[in-house]
Amino acid sequence: MLKNCKQCNKVFAHPTRHLCEDCYKEAQAQFERVREYLEENRGATVAEVAEETDTDVEVIYEYIKEGRLTVVPKDAELRCQICGTKIASGRVCAVCRAELSDDPRIPPSQQGDKDTRMRYLDAIRRKRR
Ligand SMILES: [Zn+2]
Ligand SMILES: [Zn+2]
Repeated sequence: MLKNCKQCNKVFAHPTRHLCEDCYKEAQAQFERVREYLEENRGATVAEVAEETDTDVEVIYEYIKEGRLTVVPKDAELRCQICGTKIASGRVCAVCRAELSDDPRIPPSQQGDKDTRMRYLDAIRRKRR
């Protein structure tokens, strides 16, 4: 199926990607720049990372939200995906993580299963609202 690249609008064919080959490679390279900069400059702020790696602040926040960065900028606001508490790293706070891992409703054999876990997180979110 042919589609237009979200970045440069060039027509290309790929089953899943939204970017053409060139833009996809550029996006990968950009992520690598951000990741490397943060690993070498722990404690850098979002603004510094954006400036030094020539990356939009929004893009950096997207990486953070997607959980792709192991080191996040010092002033980036991370929130627990379940209860919304501010956290320093990862996707869920210590309290929710403990609740998840202690919960007997998830057999340990399934805890690594991403779909099962996401469905479970959705169920918790609904319950708390
Ligand atoms: Zn493109
Ligand atoms: Zn939480």
